[in-house]
Amino acid sequence: MKHEPVAAAEPRYIKLNPRDNVAIVVNDFGLPAGTKFPDGLELKSFVPQGHKTALVDIDQGAPIVRYGEVIGTATSPIKAGEWVDEARIEMPEAPALDKLEIATVVPAPLPPLEGYTFEGYRNADGSVGTKNVLGISTSVQCVSGTLEFAIKRIKSELLPKYPNVDDVVGLTHAYGCGVAITAPDAVVPIRTLQNLALNPNFGGEILVVGLGCEKLAPERLVPEGVDNAIVRMQDEAFDGFGAIVESIMEAADRRLAQLNKRRRETCPASDLVIGLQCGGSDAFSGVTANPAVGFAADLLVQAGATVMFSEVTEVRDAIQLLTRRAINEEVGRALVREMAWYDAYLARGGADRSANTTPGNKKGGLANIVEKALGSIVKSGSTLITGVLAPGERAKQKGMLFAATPASDFICGTLQLASGMTLQVFTTGRGTPYGLAAAPVIKVATRSELARRWKDLIDFDAGRIATGEMTIEETGWELFNLILDVASGRTKPWSDRWGIHNDLTLFNPAPVT
Ligand code: CA
Repeated sequence: MKHEPVAAAEPRYIKLNPRDNVAIVVNDFGLPAGTKFPDGLELKSFVPQGHKTALVDIDQGAPIVRYGEVIGTATSPIKAGEWVDEARIEMPEAPALDKLEIATVVPAPLPPLEGYTFEGYRNADGSVGTKNVLGISTSVQCVSGTLEFAIKRIKSELLPKYPNVDDVVGLTHAYGCGVAITAPDAVVPIRTLQNLALNPNFGGEILVVGLGCEKLAPERLVPEGVDNAIVRMQDEAFDGFGAIVESIMEAADRRLAQLNKRRRETCPASDLVIGLQCGGSDAFSGVTANPAVGFAADLLVQAGATVMFSEVTEVRDAIQLLTRRAINEEVGRALVREMAWYDAYLARGGADRSANTTPGNKKGGLANIVEKALGSIVKSGSTLITGVLAPGERAKQKGMLFAATPASDFICGTLQLASGMTLQVFTTGRGTPYGLAAAPVIKVATRSELARRWKDLIDFDAGRIATGEMTIEETGWELFNLILDVASGRTKPWSDRWGIHNDLTLFNPAPVT
């Protein structure tokens, strides 16, 4: 069913849940005092786009409700039609982790969605890539400059010989030496590096460039049964830098020849591993982009795919809504375990969850982390949660998984790649040029104004939901089809067209020495 687009000038707000006592202003650039909405509500002050106005009078200390949930209490009496900015909202405590309902509202599985396919690169281990990339691992930061030097030559001298290979990517990072390698939390960066090399987009071709004296032995990044996968700079057989670079080039050449044999073949949508993330969120994130992504995520789950959502500090304040959806007690407990681990991690650093919201979030109308979290978890759709991954663990299950990561865009992206993600859907309200070299990223704007202004950076405009141009269902289907197109290489997202990609960033919660 098509909805008639509303005229741009008509004042419009969005109320999401019948229990809500605030709504957000839709119109570009906001609305002035005196604006009358069709239902008779009159603004008593200017309200910027995406910010909240009170729908009724709210007493001091009374709950402020959005998404049907309490996002805080009023710090002073608020009149209907006033701007409810962050200063007028007192943030509630985070839900206690020992009192959560687990697996009490497990959604029934949705009917299977059959017949949807994409053109992917099937690997020997059964996984399927969406790109054909040579990923070269490093065991320590010391070798990064050398590898970058070699990759420049590989790209200009070797890559042209192998037209079926998309790219060569150095998996560089700041880990490997000068770190407490036996500390319990060192498992996170080490596991991440091990699993990154196994990302399906790299086709199982393993090559590690190491130094020789580092704490993280390069052997630890080579899976069992793989031989001759290490170039060690301090190896006494190398007579100088030129010989080292030649050795990297030769090793790369052999692997490029193998990767060049890969061909796309028709694969069921169930072979997809999709990561979901947001960055630069605004108050529309939970109204347009995240609901569209959530609808597409439900379709992917129905088609049998693996989908992961992440960002612990952005789900922590809505965790009570997630543990109920866990498929069983074990998965629910794993969710609680990851929240508790992160609470302790933040406490150790003298921070808490309120450190998450950025100045841009607040300018975009998000008053606090509770409001941000309620909008963020909408990405996970409505299906049951079938699994939980600790940071950097590889996904083995199908369905909707929670992959525990920090909310930092680059760290979340890196950890999702380690978990086997082959395509990421990234929602943004404020706008970001984010991209990953290892996997395509579809950027979804929460507002049409951003999608228009950044027409050559944003791939999908979910703002059409706010203007009434399209429904959540229609945008969800359109996004689902775009995911299949991008996974097939038929459509290139903007970050790949420009070749703008963020650095990999490891999550190292362990001490540095
Ligand atoms: Ca993020």
